[in-house]
Amino acid sequence: LCPGPALRPALRGMRHLTTSTQTSESGSLLTGQPLRIVAGKGAMVYDDAGKEYIEAMAGLWCTALGWGHEELVEAAASQMRNLSYYHCFAGRQVPIAEELADKIISLAPENLKGGKVFFGMSGSDANDTQVRVLWHYNTIRGLPQKKKIIARAGGYHGVTLASGSITALPHVHAQMGLPLDFVRHVSCPSFYRYGRDGESEADFVRRLAAELEEAILKEGPDQVAAFFAEPLQGAGGVILPPAGYFPAMREVCERYDVLVVGDEVITGFGRTGQMWGCTAFQQKADFLSCAKQLTSGYVPLSAAIIPRFAYEAIEASTERRGGVFGHGYTYTGHPVSCAVALKMLEIFERDQLLEKVTQLAPLFQQRLLGLSAHPLVGNARGIGLIGAVELVKEKETKQPYDASRAVAAKVVQFALERGLIVRALPHDVVSICPPLIVSAADVNEIFDRLEGALSDAL
Ligand code: PLP
Repeated sequence: LCPGPALRPALRGMRHLTTSTQTSESGSLLTGQPLRIVAGKGAMVYDDAGKEYIEAMAGLWCTALGWGHEELVEAAASQMRNLSYYHCFAGRQVPIAEELADKIISLAPENLKGGKVFFGMSGSDANDTQVRVLWHYNTIRGLPQKKKIIARAGGYHGVTLASGSITALPHVHAQMGLPLDFVRHVSCPSFYRYGRDGESEADFVRRLAAELEEAILKEGPDQVAAFFAEPLQGAGGVILPPAGYFPAMREVCERYDVLVVGDEVITGFGRTGQMWGCTAFQQKADFLSCAKQLTSGYVPLSAAIIPRFAYEAIEASTERRGGVFGHGYTYTGHPVSCAVALKMLEIFERDQLLEKVTQLAPLFQQRLLGLSAHPLVGNARGIGLIGAVELVKEKETKQPYDASRAVAAKVVQFALERGLIVRALPHDVVSICPPLIVSAADVNEIFDRLEGALSDAL
């Protein structure tokens, strides 16, 4: 858990420079003071006062390989030296982007093996791309009115006007007049929170599938393009779907020609112990978005994976019209991002990170479930190296504290004081999602500190 030797002198220097503005203990949701992080190494980050934290949220669920990984740094630097920028636009192509697209497709779930990749810079824009491709594809096949998107309460898909509409977290919608009218939301799949008295998990799944069918029929199947879902809801509270949920939802979608978009922005590349979260939860997705861990967060990059059938239809149509599919960014297929992603995937395979996650997951989950006994914890849940505890006023009735995240924020603050970064989510959930490179000792330290923080908050 110690920083590398090269980091120490730098930190000492920083401590010297910042003695008058120390914020380490007050970086908090409660005080409104930001935590000022200035350095990182491995699974550790350091604030401007030199205080060390285990970063048990991988930043924003993204730094799979932790901080300061020399090979990623070198991949970026050497790509910058060779070709710092070029674009994939107007008859130009960047070969390293093609190489990365091939690599991603080789790792993709079976049904997307023949697919194509559209690169962007964020999870939000990957989901916007999916909407544009879906709309365009439906127009090409003579269904221009088939545009509505159905997503779930508690889902997080980004903040742009399209992805922010598909998101269903009140604070994302509140000041913006969202969602825009092309989106409808159905229930959150949290059986713990929304299962009814006496309802079995299987009954809950049946109820949610019936609700989805009702929503499609209400809009008209000829109006509904897609069902968007994260394999597990991340920012909504690390909510795992109940058994059989995705197959049941898929069956409904297939009945009405509604395509499924899997948002793997958090779960992609090993987080759940499977390469893709959709494999872990039997979610067959026609389209798949990923980002974050793809570059371990070192540089921005997202990938919208498009199925072959949609790509071929769009290609044939654009050829017919002698035009292009009018979508793309200045930084689509940015060579530096692609170089870092290729290196990340190389390290991921070489260092057998998937196997490592699978080996560490039992300890992580055992320590996580161990928190269930704590008086504040109503529910502990997780998979692979991601998890959360939901804090309640009363365990028996699952009565929440309030609609906000005040108690979770308190726990997060106490965790910070103990040198641990975790995150408060809506409904008083505290989430844990460390870099995939953590050791067993790190995992134990994370849960020891979190247990302490929960007790501090009693
Ligand atoms: N989709 C999911 C599942 C996410 O968790 C996020 C961000 O946390 C996004 C999309 C949006 O990604 P970005 O913040 O890169 O736009």
